[in-house]
Amino acid sequence: MASCDEPQLLAIDDALTRMRTAAPMVAEREQVPLSELLDRISASPIKAGFNVPSHDNSAMDGYAVRAGDTHQALTLVGQSLAGHPFNGELQTGQCVRITTGATIPAGANAVVMQENTLVTGKQIQLHTAPQPGENIRRCGEDIRAGQVVFNAGHRFGPVDIALLASLGLAQATVKRRLKVAVLSTGDELIAPGQALPAGHIYDSNRYGLCAMLRRLDVEVLDIGLVPDQPQAIREAFQMAASQADAIVCSGGVSVGDADYVKPALDELGDIAFWKVAIKPGKPFAFGHLANAVFFGLPGNPVSSMVTLHQLALPILRAMAGEQVAAPLTLSACATDGYKKRPGRQDFQRAQLSSVDGVNQIRSGGAQGSGVLTSFLDANAYAVLEAERSAVSAGETVTVIPFDRFIR
Ligand code: AMP
Ligand code: MG
Repeated sequence: MASCDEPQLLAIDDALTRMRTAAPMVAEREQVPLSELLDRISASPIKAGFNVPSHDNSAMDGYAVRAGDTHQALTLVGQSLAGHPFNGELQTGQCVRITTGATIPAGANAVVMQENTLVTGKQIQLHTAPQPGENIRRCGEDIRAGQVVFNAGHRFGPVDIALLASLGLAQATVKRRLKVAVLSTGDELIAPGQALPAGHIYDSNRYGLCAMLRRLDVEVLDIGLVPDQPQAIREAFQMAASQADAIVCSGGVSVGDADYVKPALDELGDIAFWKVAIKPGKPFAFGHLANAVFFGLPGNPVSSMVTLHQLALPILRAMAGEQVAAPLTLSACATDGYKKRPGRQDFQRAQLSSVDGVNQIRSGGAQGSGVLTSFLDANAYAVLEAERSAVSAGETVTVIPFDRFIR
């Protein structure tokens, strides 16, 4: 566990481990056609039903020949076009016109590029002596029949969908979509589009959090804005828990007078922990409400986005059935210094660039937990480990490039 100056703060890795253990994976599965498969999660391994390619075929436009044929010129006896194979068998002294992707005729074992030939009517002279196998894509060289192409827990991207189609599969078995309820708490919050009374602010968190969840391709249930009233919060929680696998709630989770989230969670469910050694963040509650997993995010806008991204998303992805790989982590040279006290792991918004092949990380400016514009020019987190103190320019810093969920 990382050293913390506040002992009740849970290190991020410990928080993630505890949440993973306490968050169930959806069991239900369904068949989905390729047209709706983007970002869905495979529910079982998918094997190839046949070899890819399914036959030896040409990698070039040219002539199919017998390697080692010593004839001065070869006689053109036919053609093999993509979709229209040559039906005979090639004899010594013969060649067949062939196009890219077309089946290699029986008897042929090499393809000569048309650029390396001299064509005189039906007589083809070769400039080079072909080697056996030259310019031939072998049956099964891409995928072998029976090979597992996708494991269970794979999130389907565009290339994956093309691959499934190339295997002749019109659909796949996927996990049902996770249902995630989202709500904001706070008497000061007003929905965008309404007039803003004095002393109020617009509810920005719910929109950012819902958008991040949509990128995750979960079913988002927007519960709306809930005032700082214990009864209203209890009712919203019960409604959310009756419909969703997980609840994402922003605000009301620290120790102010109007912070009713923890008492409501305590009363209706259970709190596993509520302080994590993360900055921005720290007040971050995790627990259960009936059968739903509960994430209580801090209200500060940057904190809510970063804690959803860094703490809740890995758990939601696992709940959705995804096998999540560790994020890509780089090292970069800091061009600026960072203020820091040991205790919490800091996720500063920053600009990663490569200068003469060397990674450099530039601070994204003001880093207050309410300063959403700190994300604007940023493309990465500068990750300052919990035990680290102030960082000087020139030091090496860990960097996690933003993924598509956050930007
Ligand atoms: P809280 O976590 O409720 O103590 O809120 C911390 C800070 O975040 C306060 O300044 C709130 O006004 C602000 N805040 C809380 N919820 C939201 C929200 N949904 N959108 C924007 N700011 C919020
Ligand atoms: Mg509040």
